[in-house]
Amino acid sequence: MTRATRADIHLDALRHNLVAIRKRAPGSRVLAVIKANAYGHGIESVSRALKDADAFAVACIDEAMRVRSAGVNNAVVLLEGVFTPEEQAQAAANNFEIVVHCARQLEWLRAYSGTPLKVWLKLDSGMNRLGFKPEDFRAAWDALQDMKGVDGTPRQMTHLARADERDIGFTTRQLQVFDELTANLPGEKSVANSAGTLAFPETHRDWVRPGGLLYGVSPLDDSHGIAEGLLPVMTVSTELIAVKRLQTGEAIGYGGQWRAPEAMSYGVAAIGYGDGYPRHAPSGTTVLVNDRRTALIGRVSMDMIAVDLREQPEATAGDPVVLWGRGLPLEELANSSGTITYELLCGVTQRVNFAVHDHGEAGGSRNKNKKAG
Ligand SMILES: *Cc1c(COP(=O)(O)O)cnc(C)c1O
Repeated sequence: MTRATRADIHLDALRHNLVAIRKRAPGSRVLAVIKANAYGHGIESVSRALKDADAFAVACIDEAMRVRSAGVNNAVVLLEGVFTPEEQAQAAANNFEIVVHCARQLEWLRAYSGTPLKVWLKLDSGMNRLGFKPEDFRAAWDALQDMKGVDGTPRQMTHLARADERDIGFTTRQLQVFDELTANLPGEKSVANSAGTLAFPETHRDWVRPGGLLYGVSPLDDSHGIAEGLLPVMTVSTELIAVKRLQTGEAIGYGGQWRAPEAMSYGVAAIGYGDGYPRHAPSGTTVLVNDRRTALIGRVSMDMIAVDLREQPEATAGDPVVLWGRGLPLEELANSSGTITYELLCGVTQRVNFAVHDHGEAGGSRNKNKKAG
């Protein structure tokens, strides 16, 4: 494949970020969240690179099986638990731990008599997504106590809905609800996602559950990964495939929305929404051409974008273009296009050439080119 559109995945940055997370939460173990194909980075290479993580978290058993297929034997937590009773036996056979968030899953576990499973009992402390309501939590806890299918003391967890905001009110209330119900229970506890890990030390508890931070992005409104001491793991880049000129008043691209204010040169780069670059990125969004900041102009097409070359008329076809990652924080693009970094990371499409770089392995550097699954 010779189209230059690519995503470079730097595993040394990933490992750096895990170390940075441990410094932030020195008393906690790290449940590294690698759901959704490790936020689009490739679950196999990410789980192999993060063998130092205390455990991994995924959304479903299929993702967990991919971790095992990659040869990684760390504990894996199924964040939504099992979707059928049959998955319980498969989970036990593979050393997967299960979240129990509803009465249905509790009944499946009561009826289960295979190899015991480690359980994380989930409280809904205010997000109103998964978990037992506060009034039902204690009964769920009691029910687990005499089940043969449960291995050891269940852990307790909850999920924060608004820890990315500067206003701490809602998070404080969620934490109060969690503490009221769990403070006098034995068993390890987990509350913090990335935002909690960064902004609320009191949420750290026994296990932090960072996702975004591992990949080098900050979930906080007014911050970005670099400022938090993290390194971007994914860099998306391409090349200019044409350099041309516009006359004053000529429009560019679909809808003719952007018009040249003067005679000028511009470039066409080989990336578009068919690759996962957001169609809603407006004219003016920053793009790097030859490592220098310039602006997107006109609408994003499926396969191409146009960039302003007024400040570098010497640019030519073949010159490098960076859309996000090293040199250009993804947070900038997410903000300007009305989305979040996570959505952009998860949205890089199969057409993009993934290259995994691993400079941290014993025995020297390795540079593997391969498709992330
Ligand atoms: C996705 C997820 C996380 C990780 O969230 P980040 O914001 O990426 O840190 C943690 N806990 C649960 C339950 C999740 O679903």
